Amino acid sequence: FVLFLSDRLLLNLLDVLLSILQNCTNQCSYSRLGFGVFINKSVNLGNIKCYGFDMDYTLAIYKSPEYESLGFEMLRDRLVSIGYPHELLRYTYDSTFPTRGLVYDTAYGNLLKVDSHGNVLVCTHGFTYLRGEEVHQYYPNQFIQRDDTERFYILNTLFNLSETYLYACLVDFFTDCSRYQNYQLGFKHGDLFMSFKSMFQDVRDAMNFLHDTGSLKERTLKNLDKYVIRDPRIPLFLERIKEVAKVFLATNSNYNYTEAILKYLLDAPPDSKSPRKSWRSFFDLVVVDTQKPLFFGEGTVLRQVDMDTGKLRIGTYTGHLHHGTVYSGGSSDIICDLLDVKGKEILYVGDHIFGDILKSKKRQGWKTFLVVPELANELRVWTDNSIMFEELRQLDIKLKITYTMELGYGKMGSLLRYGSIKTLFASQLLRYADLYAVSCLSLLQYPSTHLFRAPNVLVTPTKCSIYHEEQRSCKHYLY
Ligand SMILES: [Mg+2]
Repeated sequence: FVLFLSDRLLLNLLDVLLSILQNCTNQCSYSRLGFGVFINKSVNLGNIKCYGFDMDYTLAIYKSPEYESLGFEMLRDRLVSIGYPHELLRYTYDSTFPTRGLVYDTAYGNLLKVDSHGNVLVCTHGFTYLRGEEVHQYYPNQFIQRDDTERFYILNTLFNLSETYLYACLVDFFTDCSRYQNYQLGFKHGDLFMSFKSMFQDVRDAMNFLHDTGSLKERTLKNLDKYVIRDPRIPLFLERIKEVAKVFLATNSNYNYTEAILKYLLDAPPDSKSPRKSWRSFFDLVVVDTQKPLFFGEGTVLRQVDMDTGKLRIGTYTGHLHHGTVYSGGSSDIICDLLDVKGKEILYVGDHIFGDILKSKKRQGWKTFLVVPELANELRVWTDNSIMFEELRQLDIKLKITYTMELGYGKMGSLLRYGSIKTLFASQLLRYADLYAVSCLSLLQYPSTHLFRAPNVLVTPTKCSIYHEEQRSCKHYLY
């Protein structure tokens, strides 16, 4: 017990010291907000023998809204370069509009916020919010068949935020532009018809172009200080974990990008007095080009990366694990074999609800930790509006209160809820993430043997259960 206490006190002290250090470096960070870990299912860290990490938006936190603005501008410029009107250049990214997890209806060009059953909670056409009868005209019963993935596209990742905003800009522009006539399925200019579906395809192609040509990565690497948060706690956090468990990295990024980002995050800065340590030494295994979610199923060929050239060695790698070697491709089964761990002994930390968390939980039974940077804002609004939430709880649901509360989060409202109704994203989070937090660094607040114990509930709570009091007293559950 004494050991436990001293461990916790030491960690708290470390956290305080690091906070001061970070404030001194004057960096803006979601993770500085000091929130703890939220628990959906019990996880005993004492049983975890291996920690796995995604890189983008998990270890490497991109600065918001600078990074999304860059993505938006590059997408917008790409569309203009393939023939879209120059007037689009007047749109700039507004971070208060998009929320992650929205659904784009490729038939009607609407952005939708839905619950896990497909009930429409919010609907916009461009920047116009549709209400009541207008929504019914598009969606009888205010309901969509969200399994229809040909038509409905879920904008699930933080990389999708710039794209989400661009869909709204395009619809807004063509709706108001006098050269184009409005139709239910798109716009007409002379004998050219531009459907919402073709616009969607053009934006998707532009997104793939940015990723495939590496142009977004190139711009990021040219100005790392502008786009990536260098948090001094990350190397300390990984070092601390490596003392008690194996650590691996599984990223969809390629070797050259991964190396540049992790060098920036983990190598000692040039002016540092600490001995120089390679970023690779923080991991027992590094795998790039993982192609998640494929990685959690059949996977791809495992290759070795030639670290001098960044190129892949031909042939499938079949040897033992070599420390300091970087691999490409592979699958989660291969990772378990190489590291000699079982799925249940792994805590996997990622930010992608589908590619990282849903697939690793559903296909491999791994323990999962979802990084949700937006939680910082969600919790701020939730705490600031505690009186309104209480009112809502008393009165059940009232449209006016719900709407006022939603605006507190941003123009498309909360990532997790609409009033007391959980969004599709929240439902997936509750089902597939054992733990979740603003940042993986939230784990620094707990000893390495900590038992995260989920609250006992009888199947599901029968009432809307939003516990402001518990949040203030640091109990870690949202619903
Ligand atoms: Mg990621």
